[in-house]
Amino acid sequence: MVKAVVGANWGDEGKGKITDMMAADADIIVRFQGGANAGHTIKNHYGKFALHTLPSGVFYDHTTSIIGNGVALNIPILINEINSIVEKGVPAPKILVSDRAQIVMPYHILFDQYEEERLGKASFGSTKSGIAPFYSDKYAKVGYQVQELFDEELLKEKVVRTCDQKNVLLEHLYHKPLLKPEELLETLHEYRDMIAPYVCDTSAFLWNALKENKTILLEGQLGTLKDPDHGIYPMVTSSSTLAPYGCIGAGIPAQELKQVVTVCKAYSSAVGAGAFVSEIFGDEADELRRRGGDGGEFGATTGRPRRMGWFDCVASKYGCRMQGTTDVAFTVVDVLGYLDEIPVCVGYEIDGEVTTDFPVTSKLEKAKPVLKTLPGWKCDISGIKKYEDLPENCRKYIEFIEKEIGFPITMVSNGPGRDDIIYR
Ligand code: GDP
Repeated sequence: MVKAVVGANWGDEGKGKITDMMAADADIIVRFQGGANAGHTIKNHYGKFALHTLPSGVFYDHTTSIIGNGVALNIPILINEINSIVEKGVPAPKILVSDRAQIVMPYHILFDQYEEERLGKASFGSTKSGIAPFYSDKYAKVGYQVQELFDEELLKEKVVRTCDQKNVLLEHLYHKPLLKPEELLETLHEYRDMIAPYVCDTSAFLWNALKENKTILLEGQLGTLKDPDHGIYPMVTSSSTLAPYGCIGAGIPAQELKQVVTVCKAYSSAVGAGAFVSEIFGDEADELRRRGGDGGEFGATTGRPRRMGWFDCVASKYGCRMQGTTDVAFTVVDVLGYLDEIPVCVGYEIDGEVTTDFPVTSKLEKAKPVLKTLPGWKCDISGIKKYEDLPENCRKYIEFIEKEIGFPITMVSNGPGRDDIIYR
């Protein structure tokens, strides 16, 4: 059976924690898209970790972690991440890397920086991890699959072609130092030696696992609104963030996906540019940012302060629908305990009309939030294990949002730890 953990919104919903928790009953955890541009923060008995490439299941010794073919694989970052968790006392995780995954090259990272510099004020707010240039090359069919590292003849010839092509841009568009084929080849040899112990045909491995009735967990990065097709294009990421894409990015039959747990945070946050209808500013935002998540809402990869906002029912209803949600995990509810009243965005006003359907980007830019204010519960709900034990106003908040988004909230997360969870 295959399950997915994905985000309904702009990312940072707490997917890492939910995956870490659900991994207790899983055999295999697969990353299927994205790269080291976003992070998951996980807190467990080994400590606190910010993972960028490793699946959130690496802390268990009964699980196998897979970097699927859909991932933008940054080899040095993956290896450093493995070393860093082992140094902190985590048993060496069992990791497999798809032979069809493509490699983030050093020049992808440079091009990401150069392009953001060139765009100046019009930049995307990229994390400059090379993700957009990486996926551009993948779809332009000039990327490098992991398996190519093991074909020396091919590599020798391909690095020359790559440098010829990239150097045109480096010289004439960006006015930056040129690439040298022999240096690129040397880097690829280093990458080959680093990754060799992990490489295999992961789709065949997963197929066999399915035949043995193993449980596979697909772990998404970012959320629906960052999907290149269904999100807030062009302020999106470069690979699909949707659960069905998990089957492609992992290489498994789509009909095996039986459960989609969509993670929604009890308020909103976003990083990077783009429309954010329920955004708040000033002291109100600062306070939520400071109290948010576990130690504040700052990017796990970049440390950038996240943009903050109230819960957005319009975006979340759409976010859940596009994921094919079977369950909603509603997270970080404990953080809202300080508020007397909690505004929630229940509609968008666009050109004088109110809608609850998430619009295309050009209309989204004009949307103004329609807010409804719910009473707060004014107490600390961390440690509570049963839904009935939550304060009445907290339950009302959860039930109001469940009705607005139209998908069942079956898990309520009231703290960063693995056990801070209430099942309904
Ligand atoms: P992800 O990228 O979706 O995994 O989300 P992040 O890791 O960026 O953000 C989630 C942050 O919130 C992390 O610091 C988690 O430890 C923390 N977190 C997750 N669930 C809860 C929760 O229910 N309550 C609190 N207080 N923090 C949480």
